[in-house]
Amino acid sequence: MNYKEALQNNIFKIISQSAQDLKLDAYVIGGFVRDYILQRGNAKDIDIVAIGSGIALAKHVAKHLPNEPKVQVFKTYGTAMLRYEDVEIEFVGARKESYTENSRNPSVENGTLQDDQNRRDFTINALALSLNATNFGDLLDPFGGISDLNKNIIRTPLDPDITYSDDPLRMMRAIRFATQLNFKIETKSLEAISRNNKRIKIITNERIVTELNKILESETPSIGFLLLEKTGLLQYILPELTALKGIDEVEGQRHKDNFYHTLEVVDNIAKHTPNLWLRWAALLHDIGKAPTKRFSKKVGWTFHGHEFEGSKMVFHLFKRLKMPLNDKMKFVQKMVFMSSRPIVLANDEVTDSAVRRLVFDAGDYVDDLMTLCEADITTKNPKKFKKYHNNFKIVREKIIEVEARDHIRNFQPPISGEEIMETFNLKPCREIGVIKEAIKEAILEGDIPNEHEAAYQLMLKKGEKLGLKTSV
Ligand code: ATP
Repeated sequence: MNYKEALQNNIFKIISQSAQDLKLDAYVIGGFVRDYILQRGNAKDIDIVAIGSGIALAKHVAKHLPNEPKVQVFKTYGTAMLRYEDVEIEFVGARKESYTENSRNPSVENGTLQDDQNRRDFTINALALSLNATNFGDLLDPFGGISDLNKNIIRTPLDPDITYSDDPLRMMRAIRFATQLNFKIETKSLEAISRNNKRIKIITNERIVTELNKILESETPSIGFLLLEKTGLLQYILPELTALKGIDEVEGQRHKDNFYHTLEVVDNIAKHTPNLWLRWAALLHDIGKAPTKRFSKKVGWTFHGHEFEGSKMVFHLFKRLKMPLNDKMKFVQKMVFMSSRPIVLANDEVTDSAVRRLVFDAGDYVDDLMTLCEADITTKNPKKFKKYHNNFKIVREKIIEVEARDHIRNFQPPISGEEIMETFNLKPCREIGVIKEAIKEAILEGDIPNEHEAAYQLMLKKGEKLGLKTSV
């Protein structure tokens, strides 16, 4: 088969000519070819394999490009990278690899195209197109990658036990590709992943998180998490999630399976937001339920304080996985901590003051919180489903209404501590806090508008009650 039409971009002609100049063969391989055939849109990176020095080829190509882009060389790996029109082009010399027990970094020697295809993780990632003048555009598909693409199958070119044991990151990659492409992992491969799951321990957390993020960014993230669970990988990576599995029954009372519920929530939220951190919040919103689960005869199953517990667990989880401990983590913590607030609100009649308090506490994140809570509605009871969604609609409308009137988001007190001190001729003291709190409470309750004059009058009244004298 010939795929000349995939290689219309001028860059391929330049690489082809450069390879000819250096008297070596070159191929475009991997993700670019796979995604072209799947029509997955424009490639952001292109991998070139040279039968010879990839670094020399990259340098030669750069010389023939406009403004000669910089070539980044990674000598230890024998690779080089340059950027051309927003696309990263990576060059590597074809290689043959052999692995040792304790590392995913193989020892490497020069090899043929076939050797290089052998070391690729999946048949669909081993497809190569020739850039050589004699057969430009010819497809080299030694393992039936095209057939697997047509059958939607993830399969390893070699014995899967060896492939996964050599580099256990491939187990995560298999599951990630299955999720992104909505492909099935071949049974033999899936069994090999289960057999080798312990070996995930030699993979760095950063790499694991990269794959988890890609799973979460997919259209249906549950595909990946179900596979991670089924193969036993999840217990090594996110034991907080596997702890949510199962339904307990005491005296005929059952609670829902919070693991499967969580996955439903993640799929729901994926339909409404591309925000990775909000998707993380959905994944972790119930993790506090495992350690807080209790049963009592009076009230049945409870998870008191799971939101607070969960938000603390978010910190430990991010730290363990070497994820950023910055405002993203704080955002996820806040979402988890507040995840039950809107549903409590929507259970009752939605009052203005409750909405004002929600906006006050959630600040700029109130819309994200609403998106999370709407995704959290997984009840199979159509009546309840409708009721909750309707109530959330009212909450959203009220948020807009209350916000337009009271400006609670990023609340700034209308009376500052300094003004209180000046008015009553005070040095810093407890009374200032008491007055400020009373003003804030009155605004949130809707007793006074969020305006200076009304707050000033309340300050005078409160001051008098506290026995303070004005300075004028
Ligand atoms: P994406 O860009 O969506 O991650 P990709 O297939 O381009 O997809 P890369 O990580 O850029 O993924 O890898 C490029 C190619 O290198 C792959 O298509 C595959 O052939 C090979 N490859 C990457 N990682 C591995 C690995 N751990 N083991 C074997 N081959 C790999």
